[in-house]
Amino acid sequence: MTETVLQSNKSTSINETSVTRKTGCSMNQSTVQDAKNENQIKNWYVKQEKNSANKTVTWFFIDKCESSANSMNTEVLLELETLLNQFDESKSNGLVIASGKSSGFIAGADIHSLRQAKGPDEIMDFIRLGHRVYDKLAAIKQVPTIALISGFCLGGGMELALACKYRIAVDTPKTRLGVPEVMLGIHPGWGGTVRLGRAVNQLNAMDLMLTGRGVRAKQAKRMGLVDAVVPERVVSEAVASFVDGKGRKKKASFWDKLQVTSPMRQLLAIPMRRQVQKKVNEKHYPAPFAIIDWFKKYGPYAKNGLNIEMESINKLLQHDTTKQLVQVFYLREHLKNQAKASDAKFKHLHVIGAGVMGGDIANWAVANGMTVTLQDRSPESLSPAIGRAHKLFQRKFKDRLLARDAMDRLIPDLEGDGLKKADIIIEAAFENLDVKREIFKNVEENAKPDAIIATNTSSFPLNEISANMNNPERLVGIHFFNPVSKMPLVEVIYNEQTSQDVVNKSHAFVGQIDKLGLSVKSSPGFLVNRVLMPFLNEGMILMEEGVDVAVIDAAAKDFGMPMGPVELADTVGLDVCLSVAKNLATHYDIKIPEILSEKVKNGKLGVKSGEGFYKYQKGKAIKPKGSNAKHSDDMTNRLVFRLLNETLACYREGLVASSDDVDAGLIFGAGFAPYTGGPLQYIKSKGVESIASTFDDLSSRYGERFKPDEGLKLISAE
Ligand code: NAD
Repeated sequence: MTETVLQSNKSTSINETSVTRKTGCSMNQSTVQDAKNENQIKNWYVKQEKNSANKTVTWFFIDKCESSANSMNTEVLLELETLLNQFDESKSNGLVIASGKSSGFIAGADIHSLRQAKGPDEIMDFIRLGHRVYDKLAAIKQVPTIALISGFCLGGGMELALACKYRIAVDTPKTRLGVPEVMLGIHPGWGGTVRLGRAVNQLNAMDLMLTGRGVRAKQAKRMGLVDAVVPERVVSEAVASFVDGKGRKKKASFWDKLQVTSPMRQLLAIPMRRQVQKKVNEKHYPAPFAIIDWFKKYGPYAKNGLNIEMESINKLLQHDTTKQLVQVFYLREHLKNQAKASDAKFKHLHVIGAGVMGGDIANWAVANGMTVTLQDRSPESLSPAIGRAHKLFQRKFKDRLLARDAMDRLIPDLEGDGLKKADIIIEAAFENLDVKREIFKNVEENAKPDAIIATNTSSFPLNEISANMNNPERLVGIHFFNPVSKMPLVEVIYNEQTSQDVVNKSHAFVGQIDKLGLSVKSSPGFLVNRVLMPFLNEGMILMEEGVDVAVIDAAAKDFGMPMGPVELADTVGLDVCLSVAKNLATHYDIKIPEILSEKVKNGKLGVKSGEGFYKYQKGKAIKPKGSNAKHSDDMTNRLVFRLLNETLACYREGLVASSDDVDAGLIFGAGFAPYTGGPLQYIKSKGVESIASTFDDLSSRYGERFKPDEGLKLISAE
């Protein structure tokens, strides 16, 4: 972007300088000596221009080799250091750092460097290097240094921008700024704790660091995170004005200054800690607590602030959570890459069944740019989905016109006319085999020949649904989780008949609507539901033993599950649970709990009917206070080990391609405690022997269901 802007501006003349871009970059790790040789600069290029005011401006463009997005690794940092060493403040009126890629500014530290590091010491070397280089940039005082940001500017990229004196953000919908390090179990480590806290109001800085959320350009300007937001067409003028010394910084208010005083920090830290404690457990996620401790003790103006930051990061790196959260980040990227299997693009989705799932799938696809025809049997069945659409679009777009445009793309379709024109059709009607068979017979006859034909079934194997189809190779499962807007995973279900092209295109569709696709072999319950069912089942056994429902849920949450089995069952719907359990019971040794059948018989279906195992008020479970205190580790183990055992069985049966896929499926589809890196990773970290001994202990007291699956032997052989 920036280069185009420069070149399209006729008033600027661009002279190539001493360091120019090398073609044919190699990914060899460079050494310090290598990078000191200017001919080795591969990930940056430099240009100098005289602007219309006859000022000389130096531009460093980052353009990371063999990568679609910029990120910071050792090589990129060493090269930047070389360029900064060569930068002569007396020969330039300003230094601008910008991206040479259209995808964005800088996504942060290169996650592969972190994942491949041999241990915390190696990561600390990387962190020290970043500090050294960013300090060098921050030390340039004679001329203005300016980060020109378009697209994402995250983590180490944001910290680089913060080390510049000024930041200009280009006003595009893609521009997002933030410091998401907390999601990797750390906090900003390249001067961010200090520089962010000095740039913006400290409460905003804490919010950004604790939540890891990104902000758009205009919001960043309001906070003072950037000094200007400009449309793309006036970037050159904006840069020229900052080089000319006309850049202005947001002035700190009295309140801004008060917040960073020691007494105020002590006070503010109390509610912050309380808020975070509500969301995460310190023993599993130490990073947000370390951020609050840092704030309470030091704040951004402490002497030696940069060293304090490094010491704190060093401590966090010793915690296993950091390693596992880096693994989770990798798993997410791994699933995102599945969408690249096909370059198919989808415009029109037709959804059959506008219930809980069909309605929300339709709305989500519309919110992600698609046109959707939504079919059901009566206007009454369609209207709740349309009502939910209004709310989703308002929340997502926060803009009346965009929300209205989205509503225009959602078309109620009682006659099913959209079926003939759609690029992809998803069936989400009742979980009833006859209903589904009938629907697919009609779909196959009327859909475009190249349209993807998919079912959202929770439990039926594909070959049972495709029994009436002439071309069963067209049928694929695209299995979403409830609630659709919150659950990132979508299982792409295939069997021996499904064509690979259909599977690949289904992944492209899933990626297009911003979900993570995981290929799973068609078998009862697929991966996620099959693994969750014993977890739910153990919860119901505990209930039948007389344990209070809130205590059971607290036992699971103590391990780090986002929801206990009882609340999860109520959320999914007890009727849906019962139908999945019945289906699974025909294939596996599962006893359907009386208590579940009883509730369904009485119409107590969970959240949707206002009562299940809990009673609900405005969609929230009413729980007695203090239930956290009463659960035992044994209860937690019973719930978690049932889940682990089924995971091992799925792994042994090869339902998905690898142990990483198993872990990814259960983290993104079932919310399995991310600090563990996933169930199989958890078994590996604890050690197979220790896991086997807990299984033995549980099976000696509670019976066969805790006998470890043979899959455990496969893990020990890995
Ligand atoms: P639901 O009962 O809320 O909705 C089903 C809808 O399908 C109803 O509105 C009904 O009127 C409509 N319908 C039935 N027959 C139809 C037909 N012939 N033509 C058009 N519409 C028809 O069910 P749901 O919970 O949304 O589940 C739908 C599907 O999604 C099921 O296969 C279920 O197994 C699966 N699923 C459910 C969940 C969940 O948590 N509820 C999660 C994943 C998948």
